[in-house]
Amino acid sequence: MAVMQRKPIRVLDSASVDRIAAGEVIERPASVVKELVENALDAGARIVRINVEDGGLAAIGVEDDGAGIPYRELPLVCERHATSKIVSSADIVQVASFGFRGEAMASIASVSRTTVLSRTEDEDVGGLIRLAGGTIERREPAPRNRGTTITVEDLFYNTPARRKYLKLPQAEKRAVLQTVQSLALAYPEVRWRLTADGVVLLDLLPADSLPARAREVLGPACLEHMARFEAQEGGIVVGGLASRPTWTRPTRADQYVFVNRRPVESAPLYQAIRVAFKDVIPPGRFPAVLLFLQVPPGDVDVNVHPAKTEVRLMLERHIFGMVVHALREALDLRTDPSFRPVSGDELPSPGASRGPLQSTVEAQEDYLRRHFSGSASTAPAASGQPGLFDAPRPAPAAGEAAAPASAEEEEAAVAPRQAPFWQLHRTYICTQTKGGLLLIDQHNSHERILYNEAQKALAAGQLRFPVQQLLFPVTLDLTPLQLQSYQAASADLEKLGFLIQPFGGRSVLVQGIPTSLKNWNEGQLLLDILDDLSGAARTGHAAHDDLLASFACHGAVRAGALLTVPEMQNLLDLLFATDTPLSCPHGRPTMIQFTVEELEKRFGRR
Ligand code: ADP
Ligand code: MG
Repeated sequence: MAVMQRKPIRVLDSASVDRIAAGEVIERPASVVKELVENALDAGARIVRINVEDGGLAAIGVEDDGAGIPYRELPLVCERHATSKIVSSADIVQVASFGFRGEAMASIASVSRTTVLSRTEDEDVGGLIRLAGGTIERREPAPRNRGTTITVEDLFYNTPARRKYLKLPQAEKRAVLQTVQSLALAYPEVRWRLTADGVVLLDLLPADSLPARAREVLGPACLEHMARFEAQEGGIVVGGLASRPTWTRPTRADQYVFVNRRPVESAPLYQAIRVAFKDVIPPGRFPAVLLFLQVPPGDVDVNVHPAKTEVRLMLERHIFGMVVHALREALDLRTDPSFRPVSGDELPSPGASRGPLQSTVEAQEDYLRRHFSGSASTAPAASGQPGLFDAPRPAPAAGEAAAPASAEEEEAAVAPRQAPFWQLHRTYICTQTKGGLLLIDQHNSHERILYNEAQKALAAGQLRFPVQQLLFPVTLDLTPLQLQSYQAASADLEKLGFLIQPFGGRSVLVQGIPTSLKNWNEGQLLLDILDDLSGAARTGHAAHDDLLASFACHGAVRAGALLTVPEMQNLLDLLFATDTPLSCPHGRPTMIQFTVEELEKRFGRR
């Protein structure tokens, strides 16, 4: 039997330790940016400039005007467990700075070529130190104004496995943008500038308030729908800005949570937001929320996650309740009528909505009058016969003769013999087929139609969707993330029938939209698509699929929308003209058929 050769236990050398630790703190370029920027803020910076090349894979630079690092301490910056922020273990529970573990710089330096250039107020010249894979290669005096510049090149050059897991530069760039945005929201008083490959992504002057900063980051349109909320209890303060149910997004990308000004991912706090908005926002939509939580430093443990993006809160249940309550009070969410699930009872009475579209209710009633009540001139209303959708008449007073109805009329009113299209609960289309009864989901079906049409339009190259010129072109102010998505997808959007032009700064002018879209909604639809794309962040073929799915989903007629009979007819014709009419692009069914045999079984006829 072969005996395995045992090797002696050894303590790992520090280079290996650093590289292992780097795997926890430094996942991707955005985590480097986060650590560097947090160090700049800890140093009291009022100006932070960030530059990334090739999504941060080639180079990341962060420049600040903070306190700087004395020349003699430069060799310690990238030393493991070297920090200027806490002195003893007792300080950890009271920590008020971003950093305190003294390992970010060591981790970053161990997996890149890092240069630190810095000068403090009371030094005449500054100094520079350069490391490769964590080993110091150079240290020398170098001029600089007060502050620090850190450059990180060739990230993960010595850990190829890690490098392989990275997304494409475009996606990494967006992650960097998102990281900087959340810190910029927490620090409105700081001037921020983010550039990527020479292009300015963010340029934020110091703002005197959160709303002023939020306007820049979330866009002015979003801010118009936002309200402040605040609550205070004991030593805990929750507050911030949240959008009313009139403004929602298709992803959670516009929800930012901060604990003691530190951007965090907190499942319970996201959950609190969800609960607060539960009854007033349709499923799958998310309000924009900037939630700031201030707790005594001793009540929050920021040391549960190496990158400190998760925190553990004491009194979690209590805080949960405070957040839900504060949001509901400030936004009046319990009484907001702007969204309620539609039920059959709540359909407006005929004539209540006389828009350009004749409502289905009216159309159905009309249909019944014309087909089952003799000629149109002797419509039930005129002859005193109630229409199917009229309120029941009060019983005739004694002595008053009830209007005589012919037997034929009576039968017809309850049992239409021909098959019209019937809309149920403003969601399903019901119709009779040769073999039985067909129920069609209006949203799923329209999604399928749009998806297939759009697929053809993208594949055809030049060919575009039929375009509807907008009578009043719409200017949309995009957020930095939306602008990124737009730039990446503009050629495809044009093929789909969007006529869009850059309009200075982050604005675009929309002059035309695809004719077949249903929910243009003053441009909200395009913003939703761009949001989806920035969440997806894929390229090539996969990006096409993301765009198609988002276009079809947001453009399709919603559940809850009234359809006219011709519209229903049209929808069915188009659906059956596709080569995949039975399911929507997500694989959900578009229709359910009840055969006559099935009905017979149910009614005990067989
Ligand atoms: P931590 O932030 O946990 O202390 P880091 O590894 O991030 O650890 O940084 C190590 C030390 O380097 C910090 O404690 C700080 O003294 C110094 N340092 C890093 N970046 C800067 C900066 N931009 N300005 C001033 N000092 C810095
Ligand atoms: Mg740090």
